[in-house]
Amino acid sequence: MKDSGLHQKVVIVTGGSAGIGRATAIRFAEEGARVAVWDVVDKDSAVLIKEIEQAGGAGIFQVVNVADLKAIQSAVADVIAKWGRIDVLVNNAGITRDAQLTKWKDGQLAATLTDEQWDAVIAVNLKGVFACTRAVVPHMIKQGGGVILSASSVVGLYGNFGQTNYVATKAAVIGMTRTWSRELGKYNIRVNAVAPGFIGTEMVRAMPPKVVEGMVSHTPLARLGEPQDIANCYVWLASDQASFVHGTVISVDGGLVIGT
Ligand code: NAD
Repeated sequence: MKDSGLHQKVVIVTGGSAGIGRATAIRFAEEGARVAVWDVVDKDSAVLIKEIEQAGGAGIFQVVNVADLKAIQSAVADVIAKWGRIDVLVNNAGITRDAQLTKWKDGQLAATLTDEQWDAVIAVNLKGVFACTRAVVPHMIKQGGGVILSASSVVGLYGNFGQTNYVATKAAVIGMTRTWSRELGKYNIRVNAVAPGFIGTEMVRAMPPKVVEGMVSHTPLARLGEPQDIANCYVWLASDQASFVHGTVISVDGGLVIGT
C-alpha cells in the first residue's frame, strides 16, 4: 500500500500465532511496522518472528492470555520499554464454545449451553477486548493518538444457530467500538471493528463440514475467505488512507447473508 503511514509504527496483535492474527501480523510487517504478537500459546514463534522480519518489519512474541489482566499490564509495559509507544491495537484473539441454548430430545431437555461455555467465551472475546483496550489507551492519549481495531463477526450482526455466547460477544464488540469512538475521538484515537464472514482458519475447520458448506452456499463470492482478506482490511483501517473512518464496523464476508 502506498503511503500507508505504518512504517515503524508499533502494533499489538492479540491471538497472533495462528489464523487471521498471524496473517495480520505479517501484513503489518509488510508495511514496515514493529509488531508485538500476543498469544496464549507459543506456536513456533521463532518462525513467525522470522517471517515478520523477512516481510520488512520487526517483531517480538509475548505469551499473553487476554483473559489475564496482570499478563496484559506486564506485556504493555514491556512493549513501551522496548519501543516507547503503541500505535495500533488489533483485538483479534477469540474462541468459540458452541452449544444451543437448550437442546430438546424425545420430549425433554437433553442439554443446555453451560455456565462454563458462557464464561469462557465472555472472558476472552469480551472482557479480553475491554482489558487490552483499557491497557493501551492511556499510552495512545499521552502520545497524541492511535488506532483500536477489534474482531467482531458477521454473526454479531445477524445471530447464528448454536452460538449464543459467541454472538453476544461479537455484538458487544460493535457496541464497545461505537462507544469508544465517541469517547476517544477527541484524543485522535480511531476505533473500528471488522466483521469477517467465514474464513478458512482452525476456528472454521472445527465446524461441521455441512455448516461450512451451507455458509459458502450463502456467500455470493462462493468461497471461504482467506486470513489475508481480513488482514488487508485491518491494515487499511490502521493506515493514513482511513484517516476519517471511525466508529464503524466493516463486513468482510464475500457478501454472505445468513438466513437466505
Ligand atoms: P483461530 O482459532 O485460528 O486463532 C485464534 C488465535 O487466538 C489462536 O492462535 C489462539 O491460540 C489465540 N487465542 C485463543 N485464546 C486466547 C487468549 N485467551 N489470549 C490470547 N490468545 C488467544 O481464530 P481465527 O479464525 O483466526 O479468528 C480470529 C478472530 O476473528 C477471532 O476473534 C474470531 O472470533 C474472529 N472471526 C473469525 C472468523 C472465521 O471465520 N475464522 C469469522 C468471524 C470472526
